[in-house]
Amino acid sequence: MLTQINGLHHVTSLASGAQSNNDFFTKTLGLRRVKKTVNFDAPEVYHLYYGDAEGTPGTVMTYFPFPGARRGRAGAGEVATTAFSVPTGTLPFWEERLSTKNIAGLEKGSRFGENVLAFRGPDGDGFALVESNDDRAPWVSTDVPEEVAIRGFHSADMRLSGRGADASAELLEFMGYQKEDSDGNVTRFRVPNGNEAQVIDISKVDAPMANQGAGSVHHIAFSVDNRETQLEVRKALMDTGYQVTPVIDRDYFWAIYFRTPGGVLFEVATNEPGFDRDEDTAHLGEALKLPSQHEHLRDVLEQKYLEPIHD
Ligand code: ZN
Repeated sequence: MLTQINGLHHVTSLASGAQSNNDFFTKTLGLRRVKKTVNFDAPEVYHLYYGDAEGTPGTVMTYFPFPGARRGRAGAGEVATTAFSVPTGTLPFWEERLSTKNIAGLEKGSRFGENVLAFRGPDGDGFALVESNDDRAPWVSTDVPEEVAIRGFHSADMRLSGRGADASAELLEFMGYQKEDSDGNVTRFRVPNGNEAQVIDISKVDAPMANQGAGSVHHIAFSVDNRETQLEVRKALMDTGYQVTPVIDRDYFWAIYFRTPGGVLFEVATNEPGFDRDEDTAHLGEALKLPSQHEHLRDVLEQKYLEPIHD
C-alpha cells in the first residue's frame, strides 16, 4: 500500500466558454484565478486554474474551455460531483447567494452526517458545498467574506458501474485510501493524515457510460510532495499492472497519468514547483503564461484562438 499520496491535487474539467467559466469561479464561488495558460497538448485552448491565494494543491479547480463545446452526457465511469468544503453553518449563505444568481440544481441534503448543498455549474457541471471543520485559509474576494469562503476541495464522487466500482475501490486502497463508511450505494474513502482534500466517494450505479463534453470532469489529480515520491508511486502502479505515462513537465507540477478500471482518468501531480514559479504571488493568474515550447505561438494564440477574458 502506498503512503505518498496526500489527497487531491487538482480536478480538471471541460467547459464551453472561457468568460462564463471565469465568472462562475471567481465571481460566484469567490475563488482566485491562479493561472491563465493554455492546454499544453492543444495550445489553441485555454487552461484556466482557480484556487486559494497560492493555488495550494487540494484547492485547484482547472478547466479547458472549448468555445461552443457540446455538453457531456452523465453516466458511469466519471467523476459526477466535485465537492468543496465550507465552514460549518455557512450553507444558508451559499444557498441564498447561489439562488440569487439563478444557479441551477440547488438541492440541500446530507451525506455521511455532513450538510451538503448540491448545484450545477455553467455547463451542467456537478458540484457540491459540504460543511466541514477545515482550517485551511481561504482566498477572500470582494463579495465572499472570509468566514464563509470555500476552503478547497472536500471530495470527488466517482460514479462507477459494478465491476469498475469494485476494482476502483481496490485501487484507492492500494493508493493509501481507507474505506471509512458506506451508505446505500455510496462508499467513502479517506487518506489518513492528508491535505484536507482527502476524501473520495464511489457511487455504484447501473448506467450507460458517460459521454465526455462541456461540464464533464476530464481527470482528477492526486497530490504527492515531490518528484522522488512521484517516481515511487509510478513504479508501484506499474508493478501492479497499470499503464502509466512517463513523467510530463506541466511547468507548475510534474504529472503522470493512468486510466483506472472504472473509466476515470487519474493523474498523480507533484506539489513542486507551484504556481508562483513564473509570476509573483500578488499577480497570479493575471497575464497569459505560455510554456516555453509554445511561446512562439503567442501572437497567433492571442489574436486568433483565445477569447479575451474580462475580469
Ligand atoms: Zn491535471
